[in-house]
Amino acid sequence: MDDAGSTVTADWHELATRVLTGHALNRDEARAVLECPDEDLLELLAASYRVRRQHFGTQVQLYYLKNAKSGLCPEDCGYCSQSVISDAPIERYAIANEKTLLEGARKAKESNARTYCIVASGRGPSDREVNHVASVARKIKDELGLHLCACLGLLKPHQAQVLADAGIDRINHNLNTSRRHYPEICTTHTYDDRLDTLRVAHEAGMELCSGMIVGMGETADDILDMVEELRQLNAKSVPVNFLHAIDGTPLEKTEDLDPRYCLKVLCLLRLGLPATEIRIAGGREVNLRSMQAMGLYPANSMFVSDYLTTAGQTPEEDFAMVSDLGFEVVIGGHEAHDAPAAVS
Ligand code: SF4
Repeated sequence: MDDAGSTVTADWHELATRVLTGHALNRDEARAVLECPDEDLLELLAASYRVRRQHFGTQVQLYYLKNAKSGLCPEDCGYCSQSVISDAPIERYAIANEKTLLEGARKAKESNARTYCIVASGRGPSDREVNHVASVARKIKDELGLHLCACLGLLKPHQAQVLADAGIDRINHNLNTSRRHYPEICTTHTYDDRLDTLRVAHEAGMELCSGMIVGMGETADDILDMVEELRQLNAKSVPVNFLHAIDGTPLEKTEDLDPRYCLKVLCLLRLGLPATEIRIAGGREVNLRSMQAMGLYPANSMFVSDYLTTAGQTPEEDFAMVSDLGFEVVIGGHEAHDAPAAVS
């Protein structure tokens, strides 16, 4: 995002029209989206929805998470209930066996999720864990044909290659926060460590899924920096988490976010990364609250069912929300499409 020659605009439809014809948001425009007055929020949502419709129609992609290894993590990420410094009363277990991971995949399929996300706590996986996930991934692909995403922490190049060769489509590794703010959130690994993992995943031929956690004391500039980094990374999918402050973690006292601010963040992601899958991720229920459904005007994806260590609303409530909007869940291998007929 370039500051030079920028014009702040509060005409959201004019901005959306420019975005639809290839304009990349400059930094002032991006900041203006985050700072949109509440009374203009509906216009901003409507403008962002035009961009969403252009690229994704009224489709909603569902993701299903499986916490394949829980707790026992030596890292000190301040938001995470699975960290060694967290006292949160969570389940702690080593990497799940094949039967458990296959059961999770079947559940993902039953829930109409297109993507099954295998997530393991820890700084990074051992080679044994990588080989295990790779072996199960082959079986899931054969049996269910699900799109597969793995989130296993920091990866070495040879590990990324094993996962890619097994048919893992995508690696999730979130930026979480900006380079500037990163040391406030974690001291046991660096922002650059995270970028390295995204690089090796990309070099192994996998798609990148990378996003953020909003609400950890970051500034507007931190969010703008992340949007710019994600644009440069060409992330295919961007999960936007809103901090769910869990008792027992260093961030436990953090207040829930204003749902209107959450919507502005989602609009920024849609206008800043127009053709990228934007997912409302963890913390949806506690931060967007009664405005969850409105998040699907800018975003085109969400998790169905539970998160890693916290419960989400039921799949039935998720389906009802999508259906009440007049949107439809993408089932099977449909990709996002460009330029459906009506755009205005
Ligand atoms: S590395 Fe992952 S599991 Fe470990 S504390 Fe950080 S976020 Fe939690």
